[in-house]
Amino acid sequence: MSVDSQLKYKSYTTVMIVIAASVHVVIGVYFFFLQIPFMVWMSLLDIAIYAVAFLVNKSGRVRLANFLLVGKITSFAILSTFLFGLGVNAHWMVLAATLPAALYLDFSKVQRIWIFIIMAVVINIQIAMPFFVEVHPLYMPDDVVLPFFYGNVVYAAFFASVLVNAIITRRITDRQAKEIEDFQHASHTDPLTQISNRRYAEVYFNKLTAEKQDIPFTFALFDIDNFKNINDTFGHDAGDKVLAAIADVLRLITRHGDLVCRWGGEEFLVGLPGCDQETGFRTMEKIRRSIEETCIDIDTQLISVTITGGGALLLDGNIKAALQTCDKNLYEGKRNGKNQIIF
Ligand code: GH3
Ligand code: MG
Ligand code: MG
Repeated sequence: MSVDSQLKYKSYTTVMIVIAASVHVVIGVYFFFLQIPFMVWMSLLDIAIYAVAFLVNKSGRVRLANFLLVGKITSFAILSTFLFGLGVNAHWMVLAATLPAALYLDFSKVQRIWIFIIMAVVINIQIAMPFFVEVHPLYMPDDVVLPFFYGNVVYAAFFASVLVNAIITRRITDRQAKEIEDFQHASHTDPLTQISNRRYAEVYFNKLTAEKQDIPFTFALFDIDNFKNINDTFGHDAGDKVLAAIADVLRLITRHGDLVCRWGGEEFLVGLPGCDQETGFRTMEKIRRSIEETCIDIDTQLISVTITGGGALLLDGNIKAALQTCDKNLYEGKRNGKNQIIF
């Protein structure tokens, strides 16, 4: 969960606890004047549990605070139904048990469905309770039952409205998060080859600089040989197809965590974390050979291309210097007759 939503759910929970506790202060005072000591003690117990939940929430354990809140409401609802019968309408209080399902972003869909099922079962058990156990409702004068009944209706409606609000908010946040993710992916991807673009390379560089890992790192810059000829002979679309085919080979050979990026028109930059000069060179050779051996289907004609690669180790975290060395080595490879790796 992001820090933002964590803060939001913390304040959500605070509001719920304060309101629930305030309701029980009113109820406690009400029973005090009615001189029903049992209910006064119950209200005090209620308030004490909410006080604990408040402190737990304040300390940052939002999930635990919600379980206290929901556990208290659910168990007291069942107790009320057992003591006073269905007439006080306490069974609907279990609606509150659905709150964490809506409030917590890290509940999965399946978990949320289970919470709703459990809520429905608990409510229905209470409705069915008088048919299975002999309930001897404690005496409650009529003028107590009625406010109790409507009090619980209002209370449950309040929780239900918070629940609906939380579900809607969650849906909106989910959609926005997905949109941002899609947008970010699109802005970091080269549309022709579907590998990363230069903008993503900058993000990768920043991460690399920030992490300062103690493992070797190889940069490999590749450039297609005589690519202009491909365009001139077979057309620009064929050239695009070659670019996509090379990207496919790079994707296949590299590992998760490597940088694979279209650096320029027909230049590709690969970043190989964990590769020293020897393994870096070997990987670059493997890429060069695979591309040489790849047949690309152009208008029923099979063609193949070669690439030249310049490699460099990342030294002292100086990415700019490493890329300059790659460029220099690539140029040397071209001058030496192309289709080769210089490291
Ligand atoms: P060298 O072996 O020295 O690298 O020769 P080259 O012909 O590959 O090099 P040059 O830089 O002269 O040509 C690169 C060509 O790449 C020119 C440009 O038309 C082509 N090109 C760049 N981007 C694209 C693209 O997106 N699609 C296609 N089809 N061609 C592209
Ligand atoms: Mg070029
Ligand atoms: Mg070229």
